[in-house]
Amino acid sequence: MKSFIADFHIHSVLSPCGDLLMTPQNIINRSLEIGLDLIAITDHNSAENIGVALDLAKGTPLTIIPGMEVETVEEIHLICLFDTLQQVLLWQDKVYDSLPDFKNNEEIFGPQLLTDHSDDYIGRVERLLLTATTLSINDVIKEVKDLGGIAIPSHIDKPNYSIISNLGFIPPDLDGSIFEISSKTKISKVIDKFSTIDNYSFISNSDAHYLHDIKKSMKLYMKAPKVKEMELALKGVNGRKTEIM
Ligand SMILES: [Zn+2]
Ligand SMILES: [Zn+2]
Repeated sequence: MKSFIADFHIHSVLSPCGDLLMTPQNIINRSLEIGLDLIAITDHNSAENIGVALDLAKGTPLTIIPGMEVETVEEIHLICLFDTLQQVLLWQDKVYDSLPDFKNNEEIFGPQLLTDHSDDYIGRVERLLLTATTLSINDVIKEVKDLGGIAIPSHIDKPNYSIISNLGFIPPDLDGSIFEISSKTKISKVIDKFSTIDNYSFISNSDAHYLHDIKKSMKLYMKAPKVKEMELALKGVNGRKTEIM
């Protein structure tokens, strides 16, 4: 069993709310500097910077999990994690098909920037990414699972864009077993409020929009930095385990 220090929720310059310094190379450098082994880049409704990020991390001790933070029709955020670039790009196709075709207003929302292998800005995504898709939370969980990934409701303790704030309850038929809580919140406080979630596993991440937000969020003991292993670690199967840092 190996140990991995991780942060599975980081926004790049492709997220309109992400700081302009959140380029893939800067995210990699900062993650290595603070001692992370495993990160996920999770931009809003898009994965267009993942390919470059994976290439730039090659040959370093850092592993990047291809990810995305999707917004459902109920305006609930979920982080979606995959093992391969191909999987996340297939997922991106589905998300783009389900995203209303509005143009981004940079003055209001900020730019949605693409970068190259020299870490320079090379363009932008013109359609607005920071908006709800037509996919339901159950659609997202099922379709991500069908592609071999995992979809985890984001920051369930937050007053916006979370399953608890937007639905007011956890649907009994929800096909998921992991929730994300914000790094500053105590799990016991969330469980006290919603006793129906005490059989779920929890991850905690930075939800970084600035380089200094990236942090050592979780420690996972597992065989490999793979999505399936992460699920097993969260369930504590066969000696695997996780700790919130
Ligand atoms: Zn979010
Ligand atoms: Zn986020």
